[in-house]
Amino acid sequence: MLSVKKAESIVLNLAQPLDSQRDVETVDLLAASGRVLAAPVAGSLDFPYWDNSAMDGYAVRFADVENCSTQKPAVLEVVEEIPAGYQPKNTVQSGQAARIFTGAAMPVGADTVVMQEETRREGDRIFILVSPEKPQAFVRHKGAFYQAGTTLLTPGTVINAPEMAVLATAQCIQVPVYRRVRVAIFSTGDELVSPDEPLAAGKLVDSNQYALTVLLAQMGCEVIRLGIVADSEDALKKAIVQAVSTADAVLSTGGVSVGDYDYVEKILADLGGKIHIQAVAIKPGKPLTVAQFKRDEKKADSLISSSDCLYFGLPGNPVSALVCCWRFVVPALRKISGLGADAWGPEFVRARCHAELRSHGKRETYVWGRLYLVEGIWEFEPASGSQNSANLINLANTTGLAVLPAAAETWVWPGEFIEVLKVSP
Ligand code: AMP
Ligand code: MG
Repeated sequence: MLSVKKAESIVLNLAQPLDSQRDVETVDLLAASGRVLAAPVAGSLDFPYWDNSAMDGYAVRFADVENCSTQKPAVLEVVEEIPAGYQPKNTVQSGQAARIFTGAAMPVGADTVVMQEETRREGDRIFILVSPEKPQAFVRHKGAFYQAGTTLLTPGTVINAPEMAVLATAQCIQVPVYRRVRVAIFSTGDELVSPDEPLAAGKLVDSNQYALTVLLAQMGCEVIRLGIVADSEDALKKAIVQAVSTADAVLSTGGVSVGDYDYVEKILADLGGKIHIQAVAIKPGKPLTVAQFKRDEKKADSLISSSDCLYFGLPGNPVSALVCCWRFVVPALRKISGLGADAWGPEFVRARCHAELRSHGKRETYVWGRLYLVEGIWEFEPASGSQNSANLINLANTTGLAVLPAAAETWVWPGEFIEVLKVSP
């Protein structure tokens, strides 16, 4: 059976980023929130846009104030007042100054700002009491922070608050971003009903579709929900064809074990999918199928998606499905979305474990629980109750998965530090 590491590397190799030409859309500034930049962005304005004052004070000519002091102040005539947002009208001549406020444009002729605390005002005259350290003091120069035409943001950058500020400042109001990654999901199983349907004897509510919808939506994916699909070859085949032809990635749950009704793998192969993974040495989650449909090999009549399609046949058990998603699917989708390699994850931290943990066997074991920071130390509290892959009830509040290596026996004592996968959105 494949190790988790090996499976991770296979999945990441199969995942290919969206195309930086074909899979790009231009959106309005605010609509770019949370999106991934698809092309370098350059502004057409220098920043600062013009020379401006870094202080409330007086714009002066350095030569006029160079050698002044409290005993021997330079006395200048105030010829103009320049609040922020106004264009100065006068040129500051020798012997003159302009009252200026933080952010206001520097007047022609002045080269230095003296802060108001180092002056004394008498009518139209200003006494400069302290000589500025150097010419240009407290002047922010046009283009000092950014020169028009140079690269402002690079492809792969996510547009969050700081990047939004940068784009707005540069008046980049049309932003080239990758389209959202399209992910089709469906649940397989004759036992499944949706949460709003009456629960007949022997049935089970389909929680996977709901959990996956939230996870994918929080990642910024476009989620195509194909519902519950019966354990019949025909129904599954139809769903898989539809999913593969419309999406960049497909997540189905269930039907990938070795039971009599587990058809997914066979259908994937029949449809021309290349199966790369059939099982992974991970607990929970062993039956994981990963297949790839190359774009030109898709058997569907009308292809809506233009990229290759990565198919994840996840286990039906709700905990197994989520663990596989967090460990393998999320990094793959991040790569597909156009993010830079440093953002694919998964992210592990060393955390102090709050309970005794034991594992034995050939599978890497993931224990779900709460991961949180206290005074700079990561703490991990395993979920109380049964760590059984059919028990999804104690999954609530899961923010980390402790990793116990595949080894004959692993025994972790309370207080020991262990590796934990961060899984909060
Ligand atoms: P399977 O992988 O299809 O054999 O399913 C394994 C277990 O997970 C079975 O007990 C199923 O009833 C359960 N299961 C399968 N699909 C779902 C689902 N969508 N939501 C909740 N439980 C499920
Ligand atoms: Mg099933």
